[in-house]
Amino acid sequence: MKIASEQEMLQFGKDFAKKAPRVIELIGDVGAGKTTFTRGLAEGLGIKNPVTSPSFTISKSYALENGGRLIHYDFYRLPDPGLMIDDLEENLQDPKNIIVVEWGGSVQEILPNDHIKIEIKYNKDNSREVIL
Ligand code: ADP
Ligand code: MG
Repeated sequence: MKIASEQEMLQFGKDFAKKAPRVIELIGDVGAGKTTFTRGLAEGLGIKNPVTSPSFTISKSYALENGGRLIHYDFYRLPDPGLMIDDLEENLQDPKNIIVVEWGGSVQEILPNDHIKIEIKYNKDNSREVIL
C-alpha cells in the first residue's frame, strides 16, 4: 500500500486503531515513518499527549481510556535488551495494553507468535510502501 505523505501515514496509523491491535512490530529503516505511524495510532486511540520517539528512553507509555496503556518501545540503541525484556514481558501480559515495538529484532522470542508486523519502505519519491 502506498503512503504518499507524512499526513497519510498519520491517517493510516489513526485508522489502524480501529482494528483493535494488541502487539504491533514496526520494521523499517531510520526515518521510514515508524514513529509517525505510532503518532497516528495514538491519536486514533484517543491519546491527547504528544507522542515522541522513545529512542533515548527505550520506552514511552500513554494512558488509554480503558485503564490500559499504549507502550511504545524502540530498541535501536539497545541491541541487548537486558532488563527491558522483563518490562516488555510484564506489559504484554495485560490484555488492556497495546504494545508497539520499533527495532524488535532482539525481543522476537517474547513477542506473541500472532503479532502484527508492519514493514515500511522508502520509495524514491518520498512516498512510503507499507507492507502488512
Ligand atoms: P522512524 O521512526 O521510522 O525512524 P519517523 O517517523 O521518526 O521514522 O520519521 C519519518 C520522517 O519522514 C518524518 O520526519 C516525516 O515527516 C517524514 N516523511 C516524509 N514522507 C513521509 C511518508 N510518506 N510517510 C511517513 N513519513 C514521512
Ligand atoms: Mg522511530
